[in-house]
Amino acid sequence: MEHHEVIVIGAGLTGIAQLYKLKENGFDTLVLEAGEDLGGTWYFNRYPGCRFDSESYSYGYSFSKELLQEWDWTEHFSPQPENLRYLNYVADKFDLRPHMRFDSKVQAATWNEEDRTWTVRLVGGEEFSCRWLLTAIGILSAAVLPRVQGLERFQGPSCHTYNWPKEGLDLAGKRVAVLGTGATAVQLIPKIGEVAGELYVFQRRPNWCTPLHNGLISSEEMADIKARYDEIFEQCSKTAGGFIHGTDPRKMFEVPEEERYAFFEDLYASPGFRIWLGNFRDVLMDEKANEEFSAFLADKIRARVSDPVVAEKLIPNDHGFGMRRVPQETNYYETYNLPSVHLVDLNETPIETVTETGIRTTDRDIELDVIIYATGFDGVTGAFDRITFTGVGGQTLKDKWEEAGPVSHLGVATEGFPNLLMLTGPQSGSGNTNFGRGVEDAVFWASDLLIYLREHGHTRIENTVEAEQAWNDHVRDMYDMLLLRNTKSWFTGYNSNIEGRDTIRYVTYNGGAPRYRKRIDECAANGYSGFVLS
Ligand code: NAP
Repeated sequence: MEHHEVIVIGAGLTGIAQLYKLKENGFDTLVLEAGEDLGGTWYFNRYPGCRFDSESYSYGYSFSKELLQEWDWTEHFSPQPENLRYLNYVADKFDLRPHMRFDSKVQAATWNEEDRTWTVRLVGGEEFSCRWLLTAIGILSAAVLPRVQGLERFQGPSCHTYNWPKEGLDLAGKRVAVLGTGATAVQLIPKIGEVAGELYVFQRRPNWCTPLHNGLISSEEMADIKARYDEIFEQCSKTAGGFIHGTDPRKMFEVPEEERYAFFEDLYASPGFRIWLGNFRDVLMDEKANEEFSAFLADKIRARVSDPVVAEKLIPNDHGFGMRRVPQETNYYETYNLPSVHLVDLNETPIETVTETGIRTTDRDIELDVIIYATGFDGVTGAFDRITFTGVGGQTLKDKWEEAGPVSHLGVATEGFPNLLMLTGPQSGSGNTNFGRGVEDAVFWASDLLIYLREHGHTRIENTVEAEQAWNDHVRDMYDMLLLRNTKSWFTGYNSNIEGRDTIRYVTYNGGAPRYRKRIDECAANGYSGFVLS
């Protein structure tokens, strides 16, 4: 069986960074990637409109000054094809491809206590072994189709947005359905609206969507960005979300009304997540503050959508602004003003079944040429559940987390699964962080840990149950601070399409990136407290 010191599962943003660090430090590493090529999220999500919601220059890797100076971002919020080109450029520049194997979907990983190794089995049966097993499998990579009758009956083309065909989909003049109104659908719908003959948006719950305000980056602007990279990353390292936007420390109601509304307008006119993450801090913590800001946004929706009935349907009434991931939009609301675009409210007329030729609601049959499922993911734990990890004593990770919830120590390890390091695991800092920044925190920390283990001649690491319980308590406390704890979304581990995912699960870390980094750094500085090394 082919053996490597380290196996990394996944060649997306995380796996590429991890391989770079391990190669730099002389580790014999193999990356196994399910896809035909590298890129992960940016390889699979090829739907029209797919782009960063992070400022491009704050998302890219910071680990090579040469790379930073060589790469030019062309848009403030870069589109998927450019993002994929970027990751390929990085892999080629640092000669990472020879260490990657594509079309290599990991099916199972089994711990061998006797020789302290993992056996990793691919779909198809091929096996590898390694001392250290690192997961870079993403937090939004397990796509989920809706639990709706008759999905398989439809005779026309249909796909989940994550599996958008590489050759594209011809939607010009077609009758197209989009199910879902999350961040993905909100990027996609205006693009389809531009070309489709008829577009039907099937909406269950609307979201509070805010303008992205994307724009091109001129060569002068890019030169300025390049000169300021240290400053930009320094700024990101100080903010809770790892973005360039930090919260406004003022209490909303201490600011006079006129000034407050001028600030709201300024936020609405600002690019990116400033409106969410640069808002008054109490908007996400205090119900009254949240209500006032949500009412401001509701008026914006009313002003942008011509039909008042449609406008009301697009205003969320079950959660306030920022309680779920805020979709960022370009012409999303205006798309509903096109005569060819129809909003189907699933609360009024639920889907009965998908048919051979379309979708039947309780109201009528809608004839369709193409159906797009923008129905999201089995967030954070889904990618873990799709691999059978078998740890000490034959226990599987899926069973452990099914019973106890997705518990971990610092989001990087879980008791009973030695030598398994989760780079973007549940309860880690990555889920709620500008992903490029969160990933580097995880990858740099794991690299230092592996160097430490090598220097000390250790061949086994496992966290204690006590450490895991303490981290879980802390993760819960951080949820308690925020209003989002009461909202159903992947942030709180809900998924209506999966049996048993209807109660809160503590899958992300809400304490902010600086606090998370402090905790993992303290752990390392204390000789990896909470872990048993041998
Ligand atoms: P999502 O936010 O989970 O949205 C899924 C949508 O599908 C929701 O509107 C949901 O309705 C609907 N849905 C699910 N099951 C349904 C059913 N059975 N019947 C009808 N409707 C159903 O998924 P997503 O939009 O793919 O986004 C997931 C995450 O990916 C985002 O939160 C974000 O973190 C990330 N993302 C990032 C970017 C970026 O950074 N550029 C872009 C896109 C996505 P309910 O709301 O009622 O559940």
